[in-house]
Order: sequence, then structure tokens, then C-alpha cells
Amino acid sequence: MLKSIVLFFTVLFLFSIILPLKSIAFGDTVSGIGQYDKNNVFAKILRKEIPATVVFESEHVLAFEDIHPIKPIHILVIPKGSYRSILDFSEKASDIEITQLIKALGTIAKKMNIAKSGFSIMSNSGHDGGQTVPHLHFHLLGGEKVAWEQSLRHQKKETGN
Ligand code: AMP
Repeated sequence: MLKSIVLFFTVLFLFSIILPLKSIAFGDTVSGIGQYDKNNVFAKILRKEIPATVVFESEHVLAFEDIHPIKPIHILVIPKGSYRSILDFSEKASDIEITQLIKALGTIAKKMNIAKSGFSIMSNSGHDGGQTVPHLHFHLLGGEKVAWEQSLRHQKKETGN
């Protein structure tokens, strides 16, 4: 009996380690619709539970460096509100939240000195879009030419990031 209990908890423990690691290694995608998951990594950054290199902050927007940059400049721009993707943001966000987010994209591009050289803004939604974090985010990419016709995920595979 004791052996079975020990075995059960060992298996449970191993699964709790293996599943998150698998998700990180293979970049599992998430749905762009459904309930907001307050335990996603960007919600934790917003609550300051995990660190991030913040480059811009306003009342409704936070921007920080991507942990696995695919370009010399790779900033993630997110609303502070709980939105899973552009779908619920476009439906439920207030005018001030939408305005601040759009304005922030231009402000940050200038701040990162990529206004003149150019940049790309990308937001992945749902499984086909390759979204891996269920909190709306815009990738601001620059510092070298961005092949916009390649999906972000495809570039990640090529660069090994
Ligand atoms: P996506 O695959 O479009 O959902 O983009 C999610 C992005 O979040 C990826 O580019 C990851 O590298 C990035 N990312 C994941 N965790 C963190 C983190 N803790 N800090 C900064 N960026 C992260």
C-alpha cells in the first residue's frame, strides 16, 4: 500500500516537472479565445512575480525585452488589462486602453532607435498564428531586416531560439 502511494506521488511529481519543460522546449501553442488564464507568464510579469527588462510603461501598457530575441531589437508590448488575444482586446478594451497601446508602439520604436531604419510589428493569435503566451502581445522587431512573410515560429526554428 505504502509503495503504491509513494509510486503515485513520484509519478505526479515527475509529470509536474516534465509537462512544463515540454511546453517550453516545443513552444506549445495556445488558443486565442476562451477564459483569461491569470497564471500566464506575462500576467506574472505584470504582477512583478517574475523579472523582465522593462523599456516602457504607461497606465495601460507595459513593454519589455523578449527573453528569446529573434532580432537585435525584440520588444513585447502588452496591455496591462487581462486580454487573451486581439480578439477580446478589440471587443472589450476601452478606448483609452486601445489608444495607449497603439501610441506606445510608435513611442517605443522611436525610443529603441529603429524609427528610421524600420521595423515590423506582429501579433500571433491562436494555434495557427503560433501564439504561445495567452496574454495579448505585440512583437516589435527591428535592428536588421525582418522577413515579414516568415512566421515568427518559423524564424525561431531557423535561428534555434
Ligand atoms: P508568441 O509565441 O507569439 O505567443 O510569443 C511569446 C513570446 O514570449 C516569445 O517570443 C517568447 O520568447 C516570449 N517570452 C516567454 N516568456 C518570456 C519571459 N519570461 N520574458 C520575456 N519574454 C518571454
